[in-house]
Amino acid sequence: MLSDGYREQGMRVQLVQLLAQKGITNAAVLNAIGKVPRHFFLDSAFIDFAYADKAFPIGVGQTISQPFTVALQTQLLDVHKDEKVLEIGTGSGYQTSVLIEMGAKVFTIERQRELYNKASQLLPQMGYHPHFFYGDGYLGKPTYGPFDKILVTAGAPSIPEKLLAQLKIGGIMVIPIGEHQQRMIRICRTTEGEFTQEDFGNCAFVPMLEGKN
Ligand code: SAH
Repeated sequence: MLSDGYREQGMRVQLVQLLAQKGITNAAVLNAIGKVPRHFFLDSAFIDFAYADKAFPIGVGQTISQPFTVALQTQLLDVHKDEKVLEIGTGSGYQTSVLIEMGAKVFTIERQRELYNKASQLLPQMGYHPHFFYGDGYLGKPTYGPFDKILVTAGAPSIPEKLLAQLKIGGIMVIPIGEHQQRMIRICRTTEGEFTQEDFGNCAFVPMLEGKN
């Protein structure tokens, strides 16, 4: 049974306060993190870890991103209600849920069958209804694009061209770039053929791999 009691809600308030102290200023992002019950994404034995600002294993060598990383990526993406957001790396589905709480229409791709199955069962039980896809995020989802925003939650060796092509003019992509460690990069598409690029410092993600499994 999924239950969200006073204890979990209290821990979530403290997590939101911590993220604000660490520099997250977007009120809508803090509000969304305050709403999503992160303990539903971890096995019940790890409930005390659910609201620590730490990444955590979710199986098949993958991790649920640290809350600060989720908050930072969401803030950099500057999400507004009804925007179409493509997410690469569904993982646990926690980041997906935060985007939905922000009012986004989310299209999310995962290459690990087991994680795809788990998230696509869990999120609807929580009232979250993104479009789930099992496949290779390097290809994006051209038939559903172009997107207002693209969020990559795995570390890519370089900027995937196919994803750039699926970004609307005026759209934003947030992506960790690098082999072992990454830099958090924000790309804005200013015209059909022009993009600006900003660097928001070091970060650490599991790798974005090509193909399925
Ligand atoms: N957003 C997730 C973080 C998951 S970690 C969360 O909140 O839990 C990154 C995820 O990206 C992993 O689940 C991994 O399997 C997935 N991934 C890696 N390469 C991928 C690719 N090419 N396409 C889609 N997903 C990919």
